[in-house]
Amino acid sequence: MESNAEKFRGLTITSLDEEDDEPELSHRSPSASAGGGGGAGYEDEDEDDDEEEEEEAEVTLGFLEKPKHPGLLLRHLFPSKAGGIPAWLDPVNLPSGNSRCCGFCGEPLQFVLQIYAPIEDNAAAFHRTLFMFMCPSMACLLRDQHDQWKHRQGNPCRSVKVFRCQLPRSNAFYSSEPPKHNGSDKPLCPGAPVCHWCGTWKGDKICGSCKKARYCSEKHQTLHWLSGHKSDCLQLISSSEASSSIMPAVGKVPASKSWPEYEIAIDYEGAFNSDSCDENNSKSLVMQRPGKPDDMMQSWMDQFEADADNKCWASFQERVSGAPKQVLRYCREENAKPLWALSAGCPSNADIPSCSYCRGSLCYEFQIMPQLLYYFGVKNEPDSLDWATIVVYTCKGSCDQNVSYKEEFAWVQLYPTTTTRP
Ligand SMILES: [Zn+2]
Ligand SMILES: [Zn+2]
Ligand SMILES: [Zn+2]
Ligand SMILES: [Zn+2]
Repeated sequence: MESNAEKFRGLTITSLDEEDDEPELSHRSPSASAGGGGGAGYEDEDEDDDEEEEEEAEVTLGFLEKPKHPGLLLRHLFPSKAGGIPAWLDPVNLPSGNSRCCGFCGEPLQFVLQIYAPIEDNAAAFHRTLFMFMCPSMACLLRDQHDQWKHRQGNPCRSVKVFRCQLPRSNAFYSSEPPKHNGSDKPLCPGAPVCHWCGTWKGDKICGSCKKARYCSEKHQTLHWLSGHKSDCLQLISSSEASSSIMPAVGKVPASKSWPEYEIAIDYEGAFNSDSCDENNSKSLVMQRPGKPDDMMQSWMDQFEADADNKCWASFQERVSGAPKQVLRYCREENAKPLWALSAGCPSNADIPSCSYCRGSLCYEFQIMPQLLYYFGVKNEPDSLDWATIVVYTCKGSCDQNVSYKEEFAWVQLYPTTTTRP
């Protein structure tokens, strides 16, 4: 019997192919690869492999593309996207309080990416999206990387947070029928009003004067005030019609406040290991961001000469070289393992906590790659964000508890030079 998620996905892909001459895989969920029985078109390939027990899990890679049409990344189309603002799956019960702030500096976190990854045999996760947020401060990421080891001693502070949200097919927010992708799709209800500054978090604080502008935090209220709301506020008070022209529309936030927005397109890693991979994917691109000169690369490795990390780094580079533009590696199969850049700073099994909701175990689900920083336009300056990889572990059972957004576990691996930075 065809599972719900499969039907849903199959239809989505069909309609996408019809309207687009480029049959991208962008709307297929990363989990289409999981378990080998996923999205249309891949079942045949997997059948032969079933007998080989030591077969390595097939990794799905994520690549960034500028969205082809405006409105393609809205929540009722269940997008996988990076940058911009989140397309909240549950648009009402957003993470609140401290969970949306950096544990170190206390500032609201910035949206990194979201992955639509439903689980076929879990009716409660017919829709399922993972959301990653991060504090843009490297100082905070350094402290985060330190604190992540302390899970056994209670609740460490984090500057990287991942939330899992899932819904059954029948739910209050979306039609139980798959989106038609013809412009007629609509969510069933409006979402909670969000912050007028960041467009990300719930705007539960309201401007005392105009009673219209909403903010997630005092910090964003201040920033908005200084950047023009000071004068807009008066206009809003005097004219009710002005609000639509002055206040940014929901879902539209000036790009300067967020990282640039991309659609995540996916492909199987196996597709890149042949000679057919094109010239653009030349090996010289590997792991180098603009402004990250070769000698700097060399200095990372110099410190770790003759170390086990040299070998680990080399195999990391080699693995990535087949598709150097990958920003994301995804695999939720039982035997899936993250690809570590360095042998130092990897967690042992004991360092991975259990699910804070069901107490079950967590399993590796995806990791983000340093190439993402290039697409986000992060400069190579002393305080700029930088990481080797960030690995995300999620509840194995994808448990369904009362909270809409369940916090999962991220493991940050930094480069040697950044880890020694004061
Ligand atoms: Zn911070
Ligand atoms: Zn805000
Ligand atoms: Zn105001
Ligand atoms: Zn759980």
